[in-house]
Amino acid sequence: MLTLSKLIDEDKCYETIRTMRWPDGVCCTDCGAKNITKRGKHATYSARQRYICGECGRHFDDLTDTIFAGRHQPLKTWIACLYLMGLNVSNQQIADELQNDVPLGGGMMCASAAK
Ligand SMILES: [Zn+2]
Repeated sequence: MLTLSKLIDEDKCYETIRTMRWPDGVCCTDCGAKNITKRGKHATYSARQRYICGECGRHFDDLTDTIFAGRHQPLKTWIACLYLMGLNVSNQQIADELQNDVPLGGGMMCASAAK
């Protein structure tokens, strides 16, 4: 069964998040410094870049302090979810499209992801 989330490239999703989040380049989530060093990739999600701030020493990654942090679904599932919400389809249709990858629970997971 072909689903939308299978068509989406996880690396591209992270690229999209980085571009949206840091259009002028990565900066610290704590102090805003641009003196950032890459510190390898996330253990579970290989596309998720980790960083350390050269000013305050804060460790963070692409999703730190975002609505996506701490989610158990792959980022691409959320991207697909947001995309489908943009098309104004119902939560049921989204769930069908994603083959219930996303536990919609009354639609609140998707709704909170849209903020
Ligand atoms: Zn910092």
